[in-house]
Amino acid sequence: MKMNQHYNELKASYLFVDINHRVAAFQKAHPEREVIRLGIGDVTRPLAGSVVRAMQDAVAEMGTAAGFHGYGPEQGYDFLREAVRGYYAGRGVALEADEIFISDGAKSDLANILGLFSEDNTVLVPDPVYPTYVDDNVTDGRRIVYAPTSEANGFLAMPDPAVKADIIYICSPNNPTGAAYDRAQLKQWVDYAKANDAIILYDAAYECFVSEEGLARSIFEVEGARDCAIELCSFSKIAGFTGTRCGYTIVPRQLEREGMSLNKLWLRRQTTKFNGVPYIVQRGAAAVFTPEGMAEIQANLDYYRRNAKVIAGALNECGVWYCGGHNSPYIWLRCPGNMDSWTFFDWLLENAGVVGTPGVGFGPCGEGYFRLTAFGDAEKTRIAAQRIRDAILSLSK
Ligand code: PLP
Repeated sequence: MKMNQHYNELKASYLFVDINHRVAAFQKAHPEREVIRLGIGDVTRPLAGSVVRAMQDAVAEMGTAAGFHGYGPEQGYDFLREAVRGYYAGRGVALEADEIFISDGAKSDLANILGLFSEDNTVLVPDPVYPTYVDDNVTDGRRIVYAPTSEANGFLAMPDPAVKADIIYICSPNNPTGAAYDRAQLKQWVDYAKANDAIILYDAAYECFVSEEGLARSIFEVEGARDCAIELCSFSKIAGFTGTRCGYTIVPRQLEREGMSLNKLWLRRQTTKFNGVPYIVQRGAAAVFTPEGMAEIQANLDYYRRNAKVIAGALNECGVWYCGGHNSPYIWLRCPGNMDSWTFFDWLLENAGVVGTPGVGFGPCGEGYFRLTAFGDAEKTRIAAQRIRDAILSLSK
């Protein structure tokens, strides 16, 4: 019997455990202080009414002989694949329905898609970024190289011709930095991928926050991407499906390597190892793309956008450098007073009663930075922003 020893190579992830311990200790010592959490990446707005109604209708249908649904198509029901296709077509991206695979969320597909690729491949991961990319590859035993980012490159890594990679992760808008690529920048990645025979795994989980002209919401807005990219997306952030669970992965038909069609391979993989997303959930997800659903969802996104503006406004008032917040629910700030990420975490908790996420938890290049999220309650965010501003201003007194 041999175990997958690569699991021993995983770095223990204490980030949110550590945060919870520190907050619990603080609250125990100061029971009178109200702590506001702007740390986690989970959403807080309830599901849209049209989503709820669509799921309720689907539940009722399931209770009838005529409307009962058992095992569904592993790759998703046509009604949802068509709805996703329409969502992309509305932005000028033409997809075929059979290029869209419905999943139970981006996180699982980000891990599962790696099963199509040999473990001998080298993987390029931006630093800092959503931590699962690294862990998914560590457990498979792939070699990882990092693309460092900093204020100098706006926390957007660009291709380095000296670095050879076979699998390239792009997360745009990025978690945690909120930085988002424009089409010209993505074109450079597409050209690099083609030159290296590489595949881009494009994580578009936060695409719905992009509102600026020129920034990309899908890699397929870029010429040539259909020959080198897979896009993974989610209903989690656009429609609050973090608990409901639904996402989708787009694998272009023409994407081939070593004479193998990645679309066909992924279909084979899904039909073998996955049994589909619940009918009820897919009905709810399809309602997101109805005119009524879209209007309700935009209202929720605008709510988060206003929160981001409130936080950004407070940071502007005290002259703190930050990025994100415009096309992203995340605000990525440089810790004032040259504090490192954890020192600032403790300082902010002590002086403002606000919880954020230390940037170093997302990669070494995140040291000295800090993530705040706009996913919270508006009134609490307003109070937190005031407290952050007052605390930081008091530093220079
Ligand atoms: N990708 C990124 C960049 C994320 O930040 C997250 C969740 O926070 C996910 C994927 C996970 O998405 P899902 O809820 O669809 O699994």
